[in-house]
Amino acid sequence: MKITTIAELLHWSYANLAMAHAALAAKIEQYGRTQYMIRSRLYAGLNKNTMSIGPLADDERLKMFLPQACCYCGSREYLSVDHLIPTKRGGANTGDNLVWACRSCNSSKCARDVLEWLAERNQFPPLLLLRRYLKLAIEMCRERNLMDIQITEAPELPFALAAIPTAYPLLSQLRLWVVEVP
Ligand SMILES: [Zn+2]
Repeated sequence: MKITTIAELLHWSYANLAMAHAALAAKIEQYGRTQYMIRSRLYAGLNKNTMSIGPLADDERLKMFLPQACCYCGSREYLSVDHLIPTKRGGANTGDNLVWACRSCNSSKCARDVLEWLAERNQFPPLLLLRRYLKLAIEMCRERNLMDIQITEAPELPFALAAIPTAYPLLSQLRLWVVEVP
């Protein structure tokens, strides 16, 4: 798999996410033909523009059903609103970019990129959190006309391009959300 453009990187990560999400939803412990097919079709479709990423409205709807807890550690105490992509780095001050965070995670993460911050703590983001992050990243790159440029020529971005996962952990190590999804 040769990934050279920003679009390919983001689409590959998103297609892997969709494959993992499908497997978790079906309670499958190992990827099979169906899941690999989901990934390859989505990756090709996104690159060719014959398929599109899901709308952020889906993630917003989900926000109303998920328990009100810190999206990083699951704590239900001292919650405040956090910008998933920090405004200090150029993240938008919109509802799509807002998540719950506890005081402790909020001050530890501060204005850092969430993927880099989690990686330092040896944590892989829950899939639904990563999904929101990838959608925001894709939206930002589209708005700035950056999708077709080479990764090596990418300008400074509000999110950490180098931290976008291209290989996901084993299914047994993945979770949908930081707390049990009702
Ligand atoms: Zn927390």
